[in-house]
Amino acid sequence: MPRLEAILILGWVVAGCCPAQFSGAGALEYTRKVVEFGPRPPGSKALSELRGYLKKELRSLGWQMVEDRFTASTPLGLMAMENIMAFRRGKSGKAVVFTGHYDTKRMPGVHFVGANDGGSSTGLLLELARALRRAQSRHDVYLVFFDGEEALEHWSATDGLHGSRHLAARWQREGKLERIEALINVDMIGDRELGILRETNSSRELVSLIWGVAADLGYGSRFLAEYGAIEDDHMPFVRLGVKACDLIDFDYGPGNQYWHSEEDTMDKLSAASLEAVGRVLLETLKRLER
Ligand SMILES: [Zn+2]
Repeated sequence: MPRLEAILILGWVVAGCCPAQFSGAGALEYTRKVVEFGPRPPGSKALSELRGYLKKELRSLGWQMVEDRFTASTPLGLMAMENIMAFRRGKSGKAVVFTGHYDTKRMPGVHFVGANDGGSSTGLLLELARALRRAQSRHDVYLVFFDGEEALEHWSATDGLHGSRHLAARWQREGKLERIEALINVDMIGDRELGILRETNSSRELVSLIWGVAADLGYGSRFLAEYGAIEDDHMPFVRLGVKACDLIDFDYGPGNQYWHSEEDTMDKLSAASLEAVGRVLLETLKRLER
């Protein structure tokens, strides 16, 4: 064994095995499995089956699961929903939270499988779970898969963001929000032609940390200088004063035409895009722990 390698391995043993490595191919494969469940709107059988798969996979990767079932008030009536929450305790008493949604938009008459919108966030969080399974972190780490991000009918203050509004309120009641060092939401981050906006409702401090990491890792071209305001699952937390941000590419196909359409399919995604975002998140976690 070359000496450098021996030193590195010894270093890992001392620091706690093993450095987390995010695989874009792994995230893409997870996304493919998720998309195979078909259209997954809130309340559907497919979403419930996907939930079973997510829990099984996360448990097998060694994560502790936290129950988060709730009843959402929707234009279609009361609906049982469930956020999937994987958790690992650190020592600092603080928490870093990675979030994304796992439902797809309810579109009667349209075969909408949401490869990018709903699929990519789920696949990326699963690969993060795999990459982090043996890494030790100082802060508590939460991986949260939100139900009901999409509006059942029309986007409004009371329809859409069902899972994140529920969790923000729950954590506020439980006094947990103050412990959150950062909450990073991902959405539509699998596009082959990835360009992530500087989302203006997000914490500026967090955005500048993440953009700095992206530049250092050589992914600067995918993290744009352009600004835009997007309402997403980070908003209920932003409104309660949490340092939160949204990573989203809201330019999907010519004129955004793949968004919420039958064209949102696996062939539009790439492992390289998922890998850029995943690696930036892992490095951001490291820097948040310094
Ligand atoms: Zn959507």
